[in-house]
Amino acid sequence: MDTFMTVRSYGRNCREANRLARESLLECEDLISTTKENSLIYMLNEEPEKGVKTGVEICGLVDFSIKMAERTYGALNPVLFPVTRAWGFTSGNFRIPDEQEIEELLKLVDYRNIKIEPAEDSAEKAEFRISMKAGMMMDLGAVGKGFAGDRVLKMLSLAGIESAIIDLGGNIQVLGNKPDGSPWTVGVKNPWGGEPVCGIKVSDCAVVTSGGYERFFEGEDGRRYIHIFDGRTGCPVENDLVAVTAVCASGLYADSLSTALFVMGSEKAVSFWRENRDFDFVIIKKDAAVLYTAGLKGKIFFTAGTPAAVCVE
Ligand code: AMP
Ligand code: MG
Repeated sequence: MDTFMTVRSYGRNCREANRLARESLLECEDLISTTKENSLIYMLNEEPEKGVKTGVEICGLVDFSIKMAERTYGALNPVLFPVTRAWGFTSGNFRIPDEQEIEELLKLVDYRNIKIEPAEDSAEKAEFRISMKAGMMMDLGAVGKGFAGDRVLKMLSLAGIESAIIDLGGNIQVLGNKPDGSPWTVGVKNPWGGEPVCGIKVSDCAVVTSGGYERFFEGEDGRRYIHIFDGRTGCPVENDLVAVTAVCASGLYADSLSTALFVMGSEKAVSFWRENRDFDFVIIKKDAAVLYTAGLKGKIFFTAGTPAAVCVE
């Protein structure tokens, strides 16, 4: 998944559990990588109309992504790949497509054109076919690490582990408490470097950050273009945010939210939280202001250098 991953588990069976975790992560890559030849999603993107056959796990993931796209009015969009690819975010050959090219590509990013149906030739097994309109391409990059994290924690749990912490490229997920029985403390990175902005005390929880400060390129026009895109404009997001950290039990939900809230910007993100209240967040704005939701009270503590943070009620 083009990042570093660390799995740390505690308990008697931890070596074997970690081996299983590693296997599970590699399997995820074979399923959802957009760049690994012959991964399931790679094959789907090669022949979107024909589609691919798969079981409930990946169907569930795609279905979840579509539902989140609907709930966030397209802030999360699992089929932006034709656009992000044109900007060079998969190859590293960055470029700024012209307006006409973007306009053409935006015709291919309607997530309502993803179809999931029972696979007609496999009545015995619970199999489904995922297909899309010609030219469409799926990218589960915004939810993949959360999905993988949940999968790994389930695996560790089944192997008898009660205490673990995993870091999948900055997505932190914890199982249970620390071996001493106290909650884990997860730090939220300061986008400008130095001490973390805050720490959050959690157990059985995902703490997932999306930010514009780690993956971006500088255009010839001197502007910074980040890897998170706005599906309405076909351009990298430019708003008042630097980073969004989503906090909730499910890694998948947290991952989808951190990306979607980042796309929304602070005002819409706050409204979305007020309407749902089934997760928490920490938002860092470009002016260094910090917002956090009321559910984190008593769990969040700020470091000396952080400007006064505002609690959203
Ligand atoms: P994350 O780091 O979880 O915020 O996910 C960012 C990744 O998701 C990018 O590298 C793209 O592959 C993909 N992506 C970019 N913008 C979006 C978006 N608006 N909705 C869904 N996926 C996106
Ligand atoms: Mg995400």
